[in-house]
Amino acid sequence: MIDKNQPATRRDMLKKTAGMAGVAAVAAVVMSQKAHAEGSMSQASVQYQDSPKDGHQCDGCALYVPGPSATANGQCTAVAGVISPKGWCSIWSAKS
Ligand code: SF4
Repeated sequence: MIDKNQPATRRDMLKKTAGMAGVAAVAAVVMSQKAHAEGSMSQASVQYQDSPKDGHQCDGCALYVPGPSATANGQCTAVAGVISPKGWCSIWSAKS
């Protein structure tokens, strides 16, 4: 019978520590993926606009990271913030 008033055993402590390490590892991976998806350049610095220019738009750019659907906003690996699939900026680069 386990006495709840007894101090935690070494095994109990190791189990809890392993569980916390697993949660921390998953959180680190998720944060890393988000950091990689969103760029650091400001939208102003690349003259980002939320409409196409000269037939070019973000969903045709190699740097665009699509949102959950074709019409949903996404991200850009170069530019920070929410990016419209119909947006454009001065570093637009055609998908290969
Ligand atoms: S056009 Fe600019 S903002 Fe849009 S995906 Fe390409 S680099 Fe990013």
